Amino acid sequence: MTEENYYQASACSEISTTKLEGEHRYDVCVVGGGVTGLSSAIHLAERGYQVCVLEAQKIGHGASGRNGGQFIFGFGAEMPTVRKLVGESEAKKLWELSLEAIRVTYQLVEKHQIDCDWQWGHVHTAVKTRQIPELSEFKDDLMRHYDYDLEWLEGISLMEQVASPRYLAGVKDQQSGHLHPLKYTLGLAKAAQEMGVDLFEE
Ligand SMILES: Cc1cc2nc3c(=O)[nH]c(=O)nc-3n(C[C@H](O)[C@H](O)[C@H](O)COP(=O)(O)OP(=O)(O)OC[C@H]3O[C@@H](n4cnc5c(N)ncnc54)[C@H](O)[C@@H]3O)c2cc1C
Repeated sequence: MTEENYYQASACSEISTTKLEGEHRYDVCVVGGGVTGLSSAIHLAERGYQVCVLEAQKIGHGASGRNGGQFIFGFGAEMPTVRKLVGESEAKKLWELSLEAIRVTYQLVEKHQIDCDWQWGHVHTAVKTRQIPELSEFKDDLMRHYDYDLEWLEGISLMEQVASPRYLAGVKDQQSGHLHPLKYTLGLAKAAQEMGVDLFEE
């Protein structure tokens, strides 16, 4: 028996799936039942396409069902690095795209009433003294280039967010946050199924 992880133990699937047998015809066959495939299936179904999703294992088996659950602006690389790679104007488009990703995720959750423990708010923190000016520069850079405002936290204001003496400073972003990734992925699958998308697992 494989052990359940926290997400599996705290999520409940409301979808019914079958194994693919025989011959079927669809306008689009999506391969992979993670957030990319399921979101694509929903958006295609909305446009009137007949869609199926083929998942080799179980819906949410991949990274979508067991990631950190954080939705945060930007990318794995900080924006100054992105600007160096693609230039100022392309970086701005990418920045906007990252904010749009959060908006689209929220719209999907709202529209399909996905119960995924949605929580607004995210704090970037400094744990070492030398990281405090770096964090300040990070905040200033986002304001300067993208007009994006983060709230500076120190002392009591920081303790109110994270009750630990470990952190020396922080910047709070109210437009980022956290969700339960498996509940979200299974919620997308349910929404897709309700829109007529056929889901095949295993
Ligand atoms: C440890 C970790 C932490 C992360 N934390 C975060 C985070 O906090 N926030 C965030 O935004 N992103 C995070 N990510 C990234 C995020 O999880 C991925 O970008 C996202 O889940 C990718 O979704 P996907 O649908 O493209 O892929 P997947 O979720 O991997 O889905 C692909 C699916 O395709 C199936 N499949 C593969 N091959 C086939 C085949 N031949 N036929 C049929 N099915 C197939 C797989 O079984 C799988 O279910 C994290 C990733 C990891 C690994």
